[in-house]
Amino acid sequence: MAESGIVFLGPPGAGKGTQAEIIAACLHVPHISTGEILREAIREGTPLGHKAQTYVDQGHLVPNELILELVAERLHHSDAQKGWILDGFPRNVSQASFLDDLLEKRHHPPHQVVNLEVPDKVLIDRLLLRGRKDDNEEVIRNRLVVYYEQTSPLIDYYTKKGNLHSVNGDRTPTEVTLALKEVLMC
Ligand code: ADP
Repeated sequence: MAESGIVFLGPPGAGKGTQAEIIAACLHVPHISTGEILREAIREGTPLGHKAQTYVDQGHLVPNELILELVAERLHHSDAQKGWILDGFPRNVSQASFLDDLLEKRHHPPHQVVNLEVPDKVLIDRLLLRGRKDDNEEVIRNRLVVYYEQTSPLIDYYTKKGNLHSVNGDRTPTEVTLALKEVLMC
């Protein structure tokens, strides 16, 4: 599996970033977080950052035109040719089919998807504790609505494709890591 890509799916606060970082190190592949890329662009005040800021601050998805080419380019880097972990992308069905088309065009092997499952109540508590700029109650509520409306349909999408592995994310980080390592064989 180390030869191919892995998508980390799950609601905000599910632990995707933490776990993706560990699994990426274990498989020696880059951890590509679209949220992190956008936050960095905002910090640095780049044109992308300026365009993305309001969406990110309010908990809405940035428009596809800001994110699709960025991901295509990032997956083209030499460090991503032996595999990669995407965290925070795809976040809606059109992003998922863009990724499928891209990988097919580039003759990449099929990718795996892991879905971290965590109940809402736990997510909200975790996000409030984390306290990032977009982790206040109103924005969290928006991000959960966006997740259920736009991102959660991907569970069905990937179940139909047959590459989805669901993992219970409502456990200690160490337990989740162990479960992921078993599923992803690293
Ligand atoms: P979380 O998963 O905790 O919500 P992320 O770091 O993944 O945090 O994302 C933070 C914000 O960045 C999102 O709320 C959204 O505004 C923006 N974002 C990240 N990835 C995408 C994407 N693939 N498409 C659109 N917007 C995105």
